[in-house]
Amino acid sequence: MTVPLLFALVCAGAPGASASLIPPSPIEKRAPVRIRVRIAEQLSRFRLRGFDLKFSKLGTRFDRSTEWEVGCAGQKVRARSLQGPRREVLVQGALTVETPAGFLQFQGRPYRESLTVVPVGGGRCDVVNQVDLERYLDGLVNAEFSSGWNEQAVAAQVVAARTYAFYQMREAQHRGDAHYDVDSTTRDQVYDGSIKEDWRASRSVERTRGQILSVREGGKVLPLKAFYHSTCGGRTELPEKVWGKKFPGFRRKVDCPYCAVSPRFEWSVDLTPRELQEAFLKGPGRADWPSDWRSLLVPGARLLGAKVLRTDSDGRALELATDWSSGFRKFQLAVTAVQLRNWVGPTRIRSARLRVGPLALGLDGLRVSGRGFGHGVGLCQWGAKVLGDQGRDYVAILKHYYPDAQLKKVW
Ligand SMILES: [Zn+2]
Repeated sequence: MTVPLLFALVCAGAPGASASLIPPSPIEKRAPVRIRVRIAEQLSRFRLRGFDLKFSKLGTRFDRSTEWEVGCAGQKVRARSLQGPRREVLVQGALTVETPAGFLQFQGRPYRESLTVVPVGGGRCDVVNQVDLERYLDGLVNAEFSSGWNEQAVAAQVVAARTYAFYQMREAQHRGDAHYDVDSTTRDQVYDGSIKEDWRASRSVERTRGQILSVREGGKVLPLKAFYHSTCGGRTELPEKVWGKKFPGFRRKVDCPYCAVSPRFEWSVDLTPRELQEAFLKGPGRADWPSDWRSLLVPGARLLGAKVLRTDSDGRALELATDWSSGFRKFQLAVTAVQLRNWVGPTRIRSARLRVGPLALGLDGLRVSGRGFGHGVGLCQWGAKVLGDQGRDYVAILKHYYPDAQLKKVW
């Protein structure tokens, strides 16, 4: 028995895997894992506080409550005490700070276990919270959704969040060069440390402990990249339509008549020509735009109108054309709905399930209206809430939104 087990461990931890070409390794039974969450990026200076803080590389523990101002210089981290006797710490490379009290205060917010300060050059640091994955989920529930919702709906979302985090951890492990696994923003999952933990959140996490959604691909069992979002608007979307890339386990769209109760089900926003210009100028443009589009899109350019170029089978706009005039030139700038959302901003254009039309007579601009909030892939949070309220359990909710995935208990 010893040899196969050792072999499995060596394979799982193989360092230096040359990254993106290697798919995540199969799910194996394993102990609970610690996730590395980047909680701040490119900071020049910040404050850390805690009881009996222990700084890695020094082997010293600073007694009682201490507060430190921390910054980075080149590849060094510098920390200066703000209370009691004046002390200064300067270390080469990353500095990890932990406390036996269990919580550290970063910028006034509590985080569990340990924080690592990573110099990233230019006098800036990233800050990474290393924490047990289950405790990370305790804090995440009320940042990403609400523990006050139906318990089965919350449990379904916890499993999706755990699976997403687990997928990202394995990706980072295979890349081998990242100093964190997930961001604490909408780039991955929103996480504010422990401040939003409550007993309902912890109960849903504990009841689904170690449960992960998996997919079978090429004879292997892999974690699903369990995308989720606020409100799908009636039907979920495929990842390749949003990010131009397929992911195992997402083979079909799912009807969702449930999220119509979401306050974000329908939306509408008025865009001025100026806002559109600024959004377009932020991006790289498109190959089918006039080569001198940047010089044409000056503040004097007029928006003449917009029309839908392509729709999908649900009747939603896939691509639109905006018509402009600048001086004596008329030109057209086409965008996909996904590009328009990314460039204008995902909170202004809440989903890519949209329509366009002119503003009221006499007003210059574009009215964009649509359904749903978010990218639309995977679990619809408001749909899950309604399914939970209707008495469906979390396994059935997950099956509805991830029909090609299996639920497994990994630890
Ligand atoms: Zn929905």
